[in-house]
Amino acid sequence: MLEAAIALSQTRRKADLDDLIEELRIPSISALAERRADCVRNAHWLGDRFETMGMKSQIVDVDGGNPIVIADWNEHPGKSHLTIYGHYDVQPVDPLEEWRSPPFEPAVRDGEVWARGAADNKGNHMATVKAVEHLFAAGGPPINLRFVIEGEEETTGIALPRFLRTHGGDLETDAVLIWDGGMDEDGHPTLATALRGLFYTQLRAKGAAVDLHSGTYGGVAPNPINTLARVIGELKDRHGHITIPGFYDAVRAPSPEELAAWKQKDARYVETVKGMIGAKTLEGEDGFLALERAGSRPTLDANGFIGGFTGQGAKTVIPAAASAKVSMRLVPDQDPQAIQAAFEKHVRELTTPGVEISVEVLGSAPPVTCDVDNDAARALREAYRQAFGKETALIRVGGSIPVAVDFQEAVGAPLVISGIAQADSAIHSPNEHLVIDNYHRGIEAVIRFICGLAEG
Ligand SMILES: [Zn+2]
Repeated sequence: MLEAAIALSQTRRKADLDDLIEELRIPSISALAERRADCVRNAHWLGDRFETMGMKSQIVDVDGGNPIVIADWNEHPGKSHLTIYGHYDVQPVDPLEEWRSPPFEPAVRDGEVWARGAADNKGNHMATVKAVEHLFAAGGPPINLRFVIEGEEETTGIALPRFLRTHGGDLETDAVLIWDGGMDEDGHPTLATALRGLFYTQLRAKGAAVDLHSGTYGGVAPNPINTLARVIGELKDRHGHITIPGFYDAVRAPSPEELAAWKQKDARYVETVKGMIGAKTLEGEDGFLALERAGSRPTLDANGFIGGFTGQGAKTVIPAAASAKVSMRLVPDQDPQAIQAAFEKHVRELTTPGVEISVEVLGSAPPVTCDVDNDAARALREAYRQAFGKETALIRVGGSIPVAVDFQEAVGAPLVISGIAQADSAIHSPNEHLVIDNYHRGIEAVIRFICGLAEG
């Protein structure tokens, strides 16, 4: 089975690439209402593929959002079950003039395919689709399978979260492969061990009832800008340490394996980031590697500040109000609700009489932990070893993948978060491209992964 499917992935390389190119021609931009018909067409294009290979597919409409493609195959009762996640929608393409070839006329140059969606996410999910096709052609997959391919990832739509929350109980599975990532800067396959969560607030500071003259009332009137700026400043000390009592209590330390790998590449990472962001030096919490600060440590940042007079010239005013956006990236096992309570209490204590500061929560998403000590993670690492001849880098994802939270909470199976896009694939930018060799090796890796799950 394994050998036969891999042989097919080698003899059918041209067809595998042609099929990806066919999907890349569909301009499925979810952000543009006028592209909705293309999104629906892309959903049906995928649904037809799943039917042709022998899976039962349905196009699910949720409240008028872009349809979700679900495909199931359950011919091995009692054996393990894998869910594969991807998205068929793509980012808008502007600025169009910066593209070296039109975004929806895929071009093959220098061993890469250039088109919008080549990496994010069509190249990724087509590698899984082709792997499963080859398994069917070689006699049928050795385990039960489900595909969930959505069309609103790039717009953080509500269709898939709603679907998962409503049908979570019917979606029992042993592992969810979220195949929407890529390789690290050194070209190693990756496996995410955690994703940071987010806690986003707006602080509103109120002083006097009206704006006041700073000559008449300066020295006696409370100043919400001064106070709010000081409060925000005091949320972190000079060593980058966040001062909210209990803030770090639940933070889980990285594993020795993660830490050892990060130590080896931290200096390179620092240089890469300095170049990318154009900063002379990086900032952060004393005593931690840059890779820890960017992935396994929680953060706190002011994102915006509004208040007082900001027009031309001078206006001698003590403003009545000021407000600021302050957000935190949370890590396992921090609990957004506990953080909220500690944060509100701390802000209340830091303010001074005369200025009242209220905290409004604008958004909250818990951090996600991806255990790598399970059959699925082990099978994927072994598959990568065989298909790419490389060890897998364990990475912490600094941002959040909202759908991972939905899968984790509604479905509850281990999450395996990875993908084949090379680090410089320019997703969301002009000239998105995918290394074609990664695509073919990715197909092989998914075949090996699925067969590995059958043994595990
Ligand atoms: Zn994207």
